[in-house]
Amino acid sequence: MNKFIKSILLILVISVIAVGCGEKQQPMDLYDSIQQRGKLVVGVEKNIKPFSFSQAEGQQQGFEIDLAKQMAKAILRDENAIEFVFVEPSNRISMLNSGQADMLIATMTITNARKNMVDFSEPYYYAGQTVLVNKMSKIKTFTDLQDKKIGVTFGTTATDGIKSVAPEALVQGYKTYKEAYDALKAGEIDAFSSDDTILMGYVLNDNSVKMLPQKYTQEPYGIAFRKGTESTRTIETVNTALKIMNSNGTMVQLRNKWFK
Ligand code: GLU
Repeated sequence: MNKFIKSILLILVISVIAVGCGEKQQPMDLYDSIQQRGKLVVGVEKNIKPFSFSQAEGQQQGFEIDLAKQMAKAILRDENAIEFVFVEPSNRISMLNSGQADMLIATMTITNARKNMVDFSEPYYYAGQTVLVNKMSKIKTFTDLQDKKIGVTFGTTATDGIKSVAPEALVQGYKTYKEAYDALKAGEIDAFSSDDTILMGYVLNDNSVKMLPQKYTQEPYGIAFRKGTESTRTIETVNTALKIMNSNGTMVQLRNKWFK
């Protein structure tokens, strides 16, 4: 091979390598990676009755657990091809984005602010925010909340929601729902603000607390995914599954099973 051809070949090889190195690594399509793994990994709450809770270690159950199984069935044709990882409101988006879960089914409200960070399915449940108070509390309506101390859980929509009804209240953040509930019981705060669905779990287990009957927001719950085209096919599959569940009665059955 003469020197000229050798030089041309060398330049070509270097260019191919350079182009290869310069290319941004595309994340693998989520649907394909779930198929390859043969298992769906879902981020769920640990103890939100009746959405996701357990009576014995390792036996998670609830409305969102059944919903997750339906999604495993839709994506992998096997409702048991699933692994649950526990998330908190304060860490769920970072756990999703770091790849520790394929999706979040975790009483998560679809909001415009969150849509900048994750993609959502269509809503599968509508909750609303209210407050939990001690039964003997003088707080009867949201008007009574002004200048009171109100607990919220970091990373939840209650952090902003409470300001819309009680702008003068002193808002105290807690890492977990349990910490906010314990603070209410200990008298550190006058009220605990969260979704009615979450607060209902405490009311059912403890007759010394009550919920105000009104709600001050609407909270459409959606399944959250990493933002971008890598999730598109999985979101389409999930939305189709939700549509089928709504039309063939499966969703009504699940509601009757868990919310009666
Ligand atoms: N649905 C509310 C939210 O997404 C509160 C419940 C929760 O954080 O799990 O912030």
